[in-house]
Amino acid sequence: MVRRLVLATANRGKARELGALLGPGWEVLLQSGCGVAPVAETGATFRDNALLKARHAAAATGLPALADDSGLEVDALGGAPGVHSARYAGPDSSDAQNIDRLLAELAGVPLAGRTARFRCVLAFVRNAADPRPLLAAGVWEGRITVAPRGINGFGYDPVFEDPALAATAAELAPAAKNERSHRGRALRILGELLRAVGQEEGLSR
Ligand code: IMP
Repeated sequence: MVRRLVLATANRGKARELGALLGPGWEVLLQSGCGVAPVAETGATFRDNALLKARHAAAATGLPALADDSGLEVDALGGAPGVHSARYAGPDSSDAQNIDRLLAELAGVPLAGRTARFRCVLAFVRNAADPRPLLAAGVWEGRITVAPRGINGFGYDPVFEDPALAATAAELAPAAKNERSHRGRALRILGELLRAVGQEEGLSR
């Protein structure tokens, strides 16, 4: 049986990754395609924002909703840009502008001091008032390069290097990124939770 859910994002890069990771058991609708405007991300944490977005999408559509909140934490910048990653260079900043600001802030910082991580929190709610949301978190450790490399992915991918692969996230094929990424890790955990809860509640019947 194919189950429907609405994905609380307008970010096509994220939607592509989440859709691929959820697999064929799900019919995934984008909230933008359902006429749902994005909610202001006013939470102080990735968890707060993920829940805020999931509840908003569920309230607007009447469907179960999945939301992701994610971002980049750079140690030399005290954890910035963090929850502000999408708008680091300003309210409507492009990926290229955000990358430019990040590289400017890190100018002169040697490789050893450029450690960083992507974080992702996923929230799944059965309905807007769901008292037992499913939450899953994932982390991807890496470092910020001195210049962009690669053309895949989105956001900060061209400047985020996985030291074990000596490749930036933008140099990885989508499947290889999903295997290592914060979002991939969180979604695999969420998949386990969904299966366990589905069996418990008869959701999979
Ligand atoms: P939000 O989760 O919509 O608030 O946006 C998170 C922002 O963090 C994105 O717009 C990107 O700038 C950045 N980000 C999150 N995950 C990734 C990723 O997998 N690759 C590159 N940038 C990411």
